[in-house]
Amino acid sequence: MLVNCGGLYSDKLAEMTGANTGLQIIPFRGEYYDLIPERQYLVKNLVYPLPNLNFPFLGVHFTRMIGGGIEAGPNAVLAFRREGYSRLDYHAGEFAEILSFPGFRKIAKKYWRDGLGEMKRSYFKQAFVSALQRLVPEIRSEDLEPGRSGVRAMACDRDGNMLDDFAIYDAPGIINVCNAPSPAATASLAIGETVAGKVLEQL
Ligand SMILES: Cc1cc2nc3c(=O)[nH]c(=O)nc-3n(C[C@H](O)[C@H](O)[C@H](O)COP(=O)(O)OP(=O)(O)OC[C@H]3O[C@@H](n4cnc5c(N)ncnc54)[C@H](O)[C@@H]3O)c2cc1C
Repeated sequence: MLVNCGGLYSDKLAEMTGANTGLQIIPFRGEYYDLIPERQYLVKNLVYPLPNLNFPFLGVHFTRMIGGGIEAGPNAVLAFRREGYSRLDYHAGEFAEILSFPGFRKIAKKYWRDGLGEMKRSYFKQAFVSALQRLVPEIRSEDLEPGRSGVRAMACDRDGNMLDDFAIYDAPGIINVCNAPSPAATASLAIGETVAGKVLEQL
């Protein structure tokens, strides 16, 4: 049995198994700032905005980390390569693949304003801070230091829909996990159980 749970490359791996999902992974980087220790008293818990129903993953928030510290973010910026963890990461072939995918072009046409807003929050710290101030007005730019980033693997179909549910395809001998968006980390044990169940069914 082969189980493909390759995140940012899950579509490529699925293709190699002969699956025709019609999906392509579009990478969206999420960048964080860290709240400096002297100002961490401002955030005593998790603080979230109301979700944008078109893009529930959008909207910076405050996260109290299990090992201490407070993260602020993430934004959601189109990455110029799949493993584009920094603003300078770029891969001509992968970027061309994104731009030439009809589903991406449809999304870009429809949501370019949201996309530009996210880019603004990436390149201009004050724009990021303004979004955070809607949740905690006392936050100032000097309270925040650049933090980590992650890249979301968003599966998109050719009609320009971003899949917001899990997409797991099984074929004889193969399970392809082609979309596992947030909260897939939180739900990872349950997803693992589901995938293991599918393997056992075939065995
Ligand atoms: C900024 C950010 C914030 C998030 N916040 C949350 C949150 O608050 N709560 C939540 O539940 N989820 C959150 N998520 C989403 C969560 O991280 C993902 O849903 C989850 O990690 C998806 O799991 P996965 O196993 O499908 O993929 P991944 O975790 O990406 O794992 C894929 C693995 O496959 C490997 N791989 C890729 N290609 C190959 C290859 N060709 N050969 C071999 N190995 C390969 C990779 O190295 C990686 O280890 C967030 C994600 C981001 C980016």
